[in-house]
Amino acid sequence: MQIQLDDYRLGAAVASDLVNTAAEVMVSTGDRLPDTTALARFLAGHGLVPDAGDPTPADVRAVHGLRRELRGLLERPDAAATAALTVPAGTGPGLRRDGDGRWQWQVASRPGAPLVDELALVTGTALLSVLRTLGADRFRACAAPDCAGLFVDTSRAGRRRYCLPEVCGNRVNVAAHRARRRTPH
Ligand SMILES: [Zn+2]
Repeated sequence: MQIQLDDYRLGAAVASDLVNTAAEVMVSTGDRLPDTTALARFLAGHGLVPDAGDPTPADVRAVHGLRRELRGLLERPDAAATAALTVPAGTGPGLRRDGDGRWQWQVASRPGAPLVDELALVTGTALLSVLRTLGADRFRACAAPDCAGLFVDTSRAGRRRYCLPEVCGNRVNVAAHRARRRTPH
């Protein structure tokens, strides 16, 4: 896998979304990454094509381990531990041409690297960039009550409050609206 060093949005979204597939966040549905099919769908959903190929059950177990590690890093940002994620699979960086022929600074995963190390490289490089350019306060817990979701806010304004704005943000707005209607003016 080739990872663009000047674009941290993809890797940060992968890290947030991966953490939020865990059963402790997805309380009503349970773990959203229980098997190889779900993991393949998650990767495709983020446009990730691992060199390692289709996920195996061992990959699923390893990714669950990475997911716990990422949760810890989103709760307690740590540059050294984040950089360590990129070590097993990372080679480079180097200037390479992307699919459109433009020169880009990229790191590439080592040939033969397991899927989990490729994912660790994608997320680790991005989270380190966010720490450096935007700061640790962009690593946040969801503002919705009863939600254990975490996220990395890579928006320009930096005002994101919910792990899934269309779900958690909406839930909070509906509750506030109901509360306002109950309060007599
Ligand atoms: Zn949430």
